[in-house]
Amino acid sequence: MTGPDAASAALTAALATAFTGVFGREPEGVWHAPGRVNLIGEHTDYNDGFVLPFALSLGVSVAAARRDDGVIEVRSLQAESTRAQTHVTASVDGGPVVSEGWPSDHAWAAYPVGVARVLREHGTGGASLLIDSDLPQGAGLSSSAALECATALALCDLHGVGIDRPALARLAQRAENEQVGVPCGLMDQSASLLCTPGHALMLDCRSGLSSQVPFAPAGSGLTLLVVDTRASHALTGGEYGRRRAECEEAASLLGVDALRDVKDLAGALGTLRDPVLRRRVQHVVTENHRVEAAVGLLRAGAVPELGAMLNASHLSLRDQFEVSWPEADTTVDAALRAGARGGRMVGGGFGGSVIVLAPADRADRVRDAIAAAYDERGWTPPEFLEAVPSGGGRRVTPA
Ligand code: ADP
Ligand code: MG
Repeated sequence: MTGPDAASAALTAALATAFTGVFGREPEGVWHAPGRVNLIGEHTDYNDGFVLPFALSLGVSVAAARRDDGVIEVRSLQAESTRAQTHVTASVDGGPVVSEGWPSDHAWAAYPVGVARVLREHGTGGASLLIDSDLPQGAGLSSSAALECATALALCDLHGVGIDRPALARLAQRAENEQVGVPCGLMDQSASLLCTPGHALMLDCRSGLSSQVPFAPAGSGLTLLVVDTRASHALTGGEYGRRRAECEEAASLLGVDALRDVKDLAGALGTLRDPVLRRRVQHVVTENHRVEAAVGLLRAGAVPELGAMLNASHLSLRDQFEVSWPEADTTVDAALRAGARGGRMVGGGFGGSVIVLAPADRADRVRDAIAAAYDERGWTPPEFLEAVPSGGGRRVTPA
């Protein structure tokens, strides 16, 4: 074994050893679930539309052993580097964690404990969990879903409970909605559990049905970079809720259940009087079309053509949906000037990451150009990672 496989085997072994040090017994196994990047389909999920995420090789690992006393005991190696409580013990029986008024330094534990409480209804029980991760938190790469899904897989295996993956994704989403109190859609948990290597996942957010779409940029001589712009969206959290409300208002004015149902865009734009709502509708409807077009391109093996689709998505998010931010626009501009095929902001907006599709032999030049643009403006340097479409959550040991 060489390269990343050897490195990840060493990390898994280290996590198992650390578990024994913390809990005084051996773990029964180690489970892993990945983070994700959404290739295209932004602000379409809550409009019942389409998204196209793929799983990263980075994710959350959980070493775990069963407990039969109804207690879930969780410890995170990442919490150690913050001022958070590293070790939290709770009952698997109980109502929503969010209504229990936990101290803020316990907040991270609501994700695994919430999953244990939701899965309890399906026959799982207690466990001791040691959590480790190589995924940045809060950077839009979905560390929360990776944590939920790794926990869910561990609990199901430890307690011999079989739940199919689409159903498990819904239960993990329910944990985040009801237990943690975050109104997220189904994309993150679906990507973390359903993705396969070398593919993106086309997910219909209305039906929950998904299909695998071949996506292996390296095979076309391309690299997909994720650029963390290091800009925080903390101060503009209200904008996300506002966009959702605008979309609901537009759908109701147009007499449809959700903007996904708008079939005649020109007619809809003619009906709406408010220019802001017109712009929002234009983005959502064209973005859904772009997801379908991107799937067509990928199925035809035309990966380089995806760049134009990413650019169109970015312009629409910037000008019609008005959720981009200066670092994102500068990243896309600098990347295109240095020879990238395309790029776009990802996530809710006003901070977070940008993806850039570049010819592999120009990827270094593109990175340097982006870093130089930040430097010129006196911004915190961006961080880069190369995204390789990877498999969904799994038991790592024993294999
Ligand atoms: P994202 O999912 O984009 O990374 P979120 O705000 O949805 O951002 O989720 C991040 C939260 O998930 C963290 O603030 C923390 O509470 C929890 N979390 C994720 N990974 C870990 C980890 N390794 N250890 C402890 N908590 C984690
Ligand atoms: Mg999240």
